[in-house]
Amino acid sequence: MSSRITHRQEIPKQPPQERIHNFKEVALGYDEERAVAEAKRCLQCPNKPCVRGCPVGIDIPAFIKEIAERDFAAAAEILREKNSLPAVCGRVCPQEEQCEKSCTLAHKSQPIAIGCLERFVADWELNKSPSHQVTRSPVKTRNPLPATRSPLSVAVIGSGPAGLTVAGELAKLGYSVVIFEALHLPGGVLTYGIPEFRLPKEIVKEEIRYLQSLSVEIKTDYVIGKIETIDGLFKRGFKAVYVAIGAGLPKFMGIDGENLIGVYSANEFLTRVNLMKAYLFPRVATPIKIGRRVGVIGGGNVALDSARTAIRLGAEEVYILYRRSAEEMPARAEEFENAREEGIKFRFLTQPIRIIGDRKRNVRAIECIRMKLGEPDTSGRRRPIPIVGSNFVIELNTVIVAIGTGANSLLPGSAPDLEVNEKGYIKVDAEGRTSKKGVFAGGDIVGGSATVIAAMGMAKRAALAIDRYIRSLRSAGAVRSETSGAVRSETSDKESGKKNFI
Ligand code: FAD
Ligand code: SF4
Repeated sequence: MSSRITHRQEIPKQPPQERIHNFKEVALGYDEERAVAEAKRCLQCPNKPCVRGCPVGIDIPAFIKEIAERDFAAAAEILREKNSLPAVCGRVCPQEEQCEKSCTLAHKSQPIAIGCLERFVADWELNKSPSHQVTRSPVKTRNPLPATRSPLSVAVIGSGPAGLTVAGELAKLGYSVVIFEALHLPGGVLTYGIPEFRLPKEIVKEEIRYLQSLSVEIKTDYVIGKIETIDGLFKRGFKAVYVAIGAGLPKFMGIDGENLIGVYSANEFLTRVNLMKAYLFPRVATPIKIGRRVGVIGGGNVALDSARTAIRLGAEEVYILYRRSAEEMPARAEEFENAREEGIKFRFLTQPIRIIGDRKRNVRAIECIRMKLGEPDTSGRRRPIPIVGSNFVIELNTVIVAIGTGANSLLPGSAPDLEVNEKGYIKVDAEGRTSKKGVFAGGDIVGGSATVIAAMGMAKRAALAIDRYIRSLRSAGAVRSETSGAVRSETSDKESGKKNFI
C-alpha cells in the first residue's frame, strides 16, 4: 500500500487564541479524507514493528489497511479486539514513545499518525451509533459475546483504565463483573484528572456505556476499605477481586509556604475543575479561585494540564517551573506544543525552594534556585543540581504542585494480608497476582503513576490470570456452577425493593 504521499497529515486544532477561552477539545480529529490519506502512507511492513511498540498489541497495519480501504467498521472491530478504550487511547497515549516511535517511517521521514487514526476510527464508531445499545451484534464482532452468561462473579475495585479494562475482558469471557468506585462518577483519572479540552467526558461516558452494554455493573460512591472490605466481598460471593485503585495521593515538596492560601495540589485543582465542573461556578456548587499569576511546579502531563486549565480559568500569566530541561519533560510532546501555543511560560532548570505569603497568608511569590544537569540518575534522566547563590523570586498569586502522586493506604490498610512494597504499592507477580488468595491488582497502584495504556496492558494480563484462577477453583469443585452468592443476593435485594447492591 506504499504511496506517493509522504507527508504526515496534520491534525486540525482550535486556534490558540480561541481555545484559551473555552474548555472544548483542542484537537479536532481527522475527517475521512485526511484519515484515508494518512492510512495510505502506511507501508504495511510484514514484520510489524509498530505492533511491538504497542503495550496491548493492536494489529496496527491491519486496522490501518481497513481505513485505507474505507472499511471503518472493520477497522473498529480490529481495534476493539485488543483495546476496549480506543477513543481514549487515540487521544491520550504517548504514541511518540510507543507505536509511532517503532514505525519504520519514523527513521525515514515522519511516522504514521497511528494515534490520530485510532481516534478517527473510534470516533467514527461512536458517532455512527452512540450509547452502544445495539452497536455490536455478536454476529459482527470477531469475538462474539457468549450467548449465556456465566454466573461467576468478579469484583473490581476502582473504575480507571485498569478497572474498566479488566471488567471488559472478563465480561467478554462470560463473567458477572461489578466495579466498585469511590467517587460519584466512574472513569478514574480519565474523568477527574485529564481535562475536558484533552479528553471530552462524553467520550469517557461512551466508552463506559460500551462496557455496560457488556453487562458490567458499576457501583459508585462505594469506598472499599471503608464501606466494605476485600474479605467482605468474598463473603458476598465474589470469587476473585481485582484491585485497580490508582495512585492518587498528592505529593508535596515539603518546602516552606505549602500551606498558604492559594496553594493547590494538582489533584485537588483538577478534580475541582474536571469532576466538579468548577469552571461553571456559580451554576455548580464547587468554586475555584485562581490568581492573576500562576506557577505550576512539575513537568509531566499533570503539570501541563494544570497550567492549561489555569489559563482557561482566566489567569493572565502561567509559568511551568521545572527543575530539568525540556528534553527530560515526561509530558506528551503534542501537549507540550499545545501549551506553548497557548502562551504557557516555561522556566526550565528551576527548583522552587520557598513559597512566600503576605500578611493575610495569601501566596505572594515563590523563591527558586537555578539548576544545572549532572549525570543520569536511576530514572535515566540527567540529575538536576542546584547552582549555589542563583536564587531568584517570581511574583505569583496561585501555586499548583504537580510533582507526582503516591499510593493511598486506605484499602491496603484494611487488608493486612495484602503485601505492599516500601512505597505502599501492592506487590504482584507478572500476571497481577497479589499475596492474598484470589486477589489480583494492576494499574498505578502496582507500579506508581504511569500511562493509561500501561494500566490497560496489566489489566488484560490479569483478566486471563483471573479466568485461569476461577477455572481452577471450578475444577477443584470450590465454585458452584449454579448462581453465585453475589448474584443471588442482588436478586433478593431487587425483590425487596432496595436500591443498592448486596
Ligand atoms: P486511576 O485512573 O487512578 O483510577 C483509580 C480509580 O480507583 C479512581 O476512580 C479512584 O476513585 C478509585 N478508587 C481509589 N480507591 C478506591 C477505593 N478504596 N474503593 C473504590 N474505588 C477506589 N496517561 C497517559 O497515558 N496519557 C496522558 O495524557 C495522561 N495524562 C494524565 C493527566 C493527569 C492529570 C493525570 C493525573 C494522569 C495522567 N495520565 C496520563 C496517567 C494515567 O491517567 C494513569 O496512569 C491511569 O489513569 C492509571 O489508571 P488506573 O486504573 O490504575 O487508576
Ligand atoms: Fe505502517 Fe509504520 Fe506499522 Fe510499517 S511500522 S506497518 S509503516 S504503521
